[in-house]
Amino acid sequence: MIVDAHNHIFNWDIISDAYWNELVEIALDFFRRNNLGEPSKADIKNLVMDSMMDTDGSKLIANMDASGVDKAVILATDWGYGIGEPKDSIDDINRFYGSIGKAYPDRIMPFAGVDPRREGAADILDRAVNDFGCQGLKYHPTSGFYPDGEESYKVLEKAQELGIPLLSHLGPISKPLKSKYAQPVYLDAIVSDFPKLTVIGAHLGFCWWHELVNLIAAKATTFYADFSGQQVPAKRNFGEFCHMLRTAFDHAGADKFLWGTDNPILESVIPMKDWLTMIRELPENAPDGLVFTKEEIDAVLGGNAERIFKF
Ligand SMILES: [Zn+2]
Repeated sequence: MIVDAHNHIFNWDIISDAYWNELVEIALDFFRRNNLGEPSKADIKNLVMDSMMDTDGSKLIANMDASGVDKAVILATDWGYGIGEPKDSIDDINRFYGSIGKAYPDRIMPFAGVDPRREGAADILDRAVNDFGCQGLKYHPTSGFYPDGEESYKVLEKAQELGIPLLSHLGPISKPLKSKYAQPVYLDAIVSDFPKLTVIGAHLGFCWWHELVNLIAAKATTFYADFSGQQVPAKRNFGEFCHMLRTAFDHAGADKFLWGTDNPILESVIPMKDWLTMIRELPENAPDGLVFTKEEIDAVLGGNAERIFKF
């Protein structure tokens, strides 16, 4: 089974206009730095952004079918306090994600987004799970909260009681969001204090991957990481990426890591299908004499997700 452990569904109403404009700037800079051409602002908004919109999950399912991906975890983001409130309320957003899970129950596992500083945050999560059908909790602490802060603990108690996993963004992020909250160490106390809660750090922590891998190895329990978003560094320097992945597996065990895309954001940079192939072929194609076994790759591409998410 192939599982994308980190995906999103976007429509124009779930992210504030101010942030869409910010994203256009980020995309322009990204295109420039990576020698991908010099599109205009209108090109970015009309072509890149528009191509990311998916009002009912059908676009994602079509891409999964074309890429050979069986299941995907989709993550709602509650960014209102960080980037301005979008048109849809957080209940609307979580209901939208839940509805996609209901439309494709064998393919899609939706996670609710909750900023723990919201009034009644634990109830927002409860509604998302019990009324809307969400099956996990997504944190984006870059909005301005520490995942191990006091308000967060009330939400995490609810998550543990509901028996759902937490997936929390890790790694540097563009303005107006704040990177300091997204360091792996702020997940450490959670793993200690909520022994029954599955905790997944996103993106292998990007530049903080070493810290994350060490924390996961130290805990040796319910602490995992997805390596979505790593297709960009992998494309830039495949050897370096492979060394990082090998170190992560050697140190914490390949059973701790999950493949993912972070799409649709990166689909235009490296399509889901190509990123999957890059990882699937590691047992034959790893550079510098590095060895990846088929068992390890099968585990990160789906076996681990099957076990952790109880598919
Ligand atoms: Zn993401």
